[in-house]
Amino acid sequence: MFLSMSLRLRVEVEALNMVEAMGAYSRHRTVSLLKPRGDGKGYRLVIAPAVSGQAIAYGYMKTLVALALQKNLPVCDQCRGYEVKGGFVKHGTDTSGDEETIVRNCIVEDVTGFMIAQAGVRRTSAIQFSYMVPDIDFSEAAIEPQFHVRAAKPGEKPQPFQVEAGTAIYVLGIALDIDKIGVVADKDGKPKPVVANRLDRVKTAIQAIAGLIEGLMFGAKKARYLPIQEVVGAVAAVSHPVPFMVTPARVSRDGNYITKTISRAENFAKLFSDVGEWIKLFYMDREGVVQEVKPSTVEATKVDSVSELVAKVLEVVEQKFQG
Ligand SMILES: [Zn+2]
Repeated sequence: MFLSMSLRLRVEVEALNMVEAMGAYSRHRTVSLLKPRGDGKGYRLVIAPAVSGQAIAYGYMKTLVALALQKNLPVCDQCRGYEVKGGFVKHGTDTSGDEETIVRNCIVEDVTGFMIAQAGVRRTSAIQFSYMVPDIDFSEAAIEPQFHVRAAKPGEKPQPFQVEAGTAIYVLGIALDIDKIGVVADKDGKPKPVVANRLDRVKTAIQAIAGLIEGLMFGAKKARYLPIQEVVGAVAAVSHPVPFMVTPARVSRDGNYITKTISRAENFAKLFSDVGEWIKLFYMDREGVVQEVKPSTVEATKVDSVSELVAKVLEVVEQKFQG
């Protein structure tokens, strides 16, 4: 099973300055984006503050440690001690080790991967986070970078200029390869489960996503996180056996991410019908971007909050686990 999500987060732009204070693991980045000019004459270069996928992943790992300890799931000493060690070392300085043992002993490294360079042992992360970038297509009012740079005409220098604005909509993408959790590849490259109760780990990994987002919104350590005011929209898909990615949660003149995801999912399921592809969709829409959802062969359920979204995803995953 594969889970993909995209969220729309309302962020206080002034607070974005505080992202700088998120620490060594959470550096403030900028991204260059192309925004179509309203007059149809090409694009404009917009440089906007962003939060790296690495920074989001760090917040996720912290959430995962806290949740796993509460549930008595294995977390290795190095991951438990991330605060003292100044981050997640993940056996990176070890000289030996094997994937199976580390996966058994630590849910954090199971889900988020690790690399022991000296021993040539690595595990790619089952979870992936995109950069969190502003939705610049949305509307003029929602372009909230702290500064812009106009693309230069020939013979002119690029011209930076300030934009005053209150809030911005940011888009964040998350993907989780559920089949990878608690599983390693055997000698022949076939998947081999190595933990007793995979479902426990899978549930925890998914719950930690809700913990991360809610934590970003209401966390006590706001100065170290990106202060998010509200999740205004989201779409999630659980798919099997072929991984389906939701459409990034952007809104533009040519349509919205919810409608696009539904119609893409329908075509995707049709394309892979010979392998029995199924997709379940969930969406949340506080902005009213969807007027009506047309009947589709793919089930799309509306929810009201991130917690409900994650709860619904968990339900589907649990059902599938129980066969
Ligand atoms: Zn660990």
